[in-house]
Amino acid sequence: MKTIKDFDLNSKRVLIRVDFNVPIKDGIITDDNRIRESLETINYAINQGAKVILFSHLGRVKEAADLAKNDLLPVSKRLSELLGKEVTFVNKTRGEELEATIQSMNNGDIVLVQNTRYEDLEGKKESSNDEELGKYWASLGDIFINDAFGTSHRAHASNVGIASHLPSGIGFLVLKELNNMLPVITNPIHPFTVILGGSKVSDKIGVIENLIDKCDYLLIGGGMAYTFLKAKGINVGKSIVEDDYIDFAKEMLAKTDKIILPVDNVVSDSLESETCHVTEEISNDEMGLDIGPKTIELFRKYILMSKTIVWNGPVGVFENKLYQNGTKSICEMFNSTQTVIIGGGDSASAVINLGYKDRVTHISTGGGASLELLEGKELPGISIIGE
Ligand code: ADP
Ligand code: MG
Repeated sequence: MKTIKDFDLNSKRVLIRVDFNVPIKDGIITDDNRIRESLETINYAINQGAKVILFSHLGRVKEAADLAKNDLLPVSKRLSELLGKEVTFVNKTRGEELEATIQSMNNGDIVLVQNTRYEDLEGKKESSNDEELGKYWASLGDIFINDAFGTSHRAHASNVGIASHLPSGIGFLVLKELNNMLPVITNPIHPFTVILGGSKVSDKIGVIENLIDKCDYLLIGGGMAYTFLKAKGINVGKSIVEDDYIDFAKEMLAKTDKIILPVDNVVSDSLESETCHVTEEISNDEMGLDIGPKTIELFRKYILMSKTIVWNGPVGVFENKLYQNGTKSICEMFNSTQTVIIGGGDSASAVINLGYKDRVTHISTGGGASLELLEGKELPGISIIGE
């Protein structure tokens, strides 16, 4: 696959699709990690003498009131601070002002185009990969670089659209994501353990189906464990259960003995309650909100013997201190001889916020995109790049 390094960028207008979809509260960016992750590619392009034109979406634009909420101006300011360089922000997604600004760029200059989803207001042009829009944006540049891993599972005008009309490559962030995730999914070093958690089985069916044959063990915790436990005839009380997926769980349990389920739980009578206790048998008025100490020891056995681990979905309601022990204990089990990949938005924030970023090999920056990779799907924003 072509990367940014395969092009001569000097004096070229290089369109870079970045992922600046950061959380913003009252005009203030509360987490600038995604902007930081894009710096390597932008700095490289500037140093090669490119004229850098950046495209990103921010939030969703359905009605006029969404425009001001999702203005990229604060991102432009933060980017300029992080780069230590002027960034020209164009408050338009097309037209004379944008074209004139690009025309007057010198080598090494940076332009940030307004939120690509402003084009969704009338006719969802960005999100439906409108042919005319992709072609128009492509006409503003000479080379296209996709470095927005988090959007690569979508075929939008600002990735697939532009890429269909220009010589294209991937940037350093996408390259890092693929280099870390693909070998683990296609050719893992065994023993290979998958840990799944989170609230819903239905979100993870594709991941289970793709990885069950490839892995040696599948440890299931979190809310989704209770659908599996119920499928085995175990009382799960008020725990979160998806009754529509009991049959799927039964099928999986009948098909393989790789699945390891919790043997005890931290339970409470409600999510709001401030008390909880550990039990092996959940009663009717209790719900399971974290894995218990015996389960932690059981999971440890498999994790310690593994060479490769893929983890998606926290094993408890980690947002609440009472229920983060399982997720934390798992983080503490990893050692530097193992390849540990974290996929999924909440899983990434759990590992980072609990302080275990340095314990793992790779934390994917793409929530939905990383899940689709784990499901074995092709990402349209990446397949369009070609050889
Ligand atoms: P990711 O974003 O990493 O794919 P998910 O979105 O699937 O992860 O799951 C994260 C959510 O699962 C968290 O908000 C967490 O509170 C919830 N969760 C974990 N364990 C439980 C449980 N036992 N009951 C209800 N929700 C749970
Ligand atoms: Mg999530």
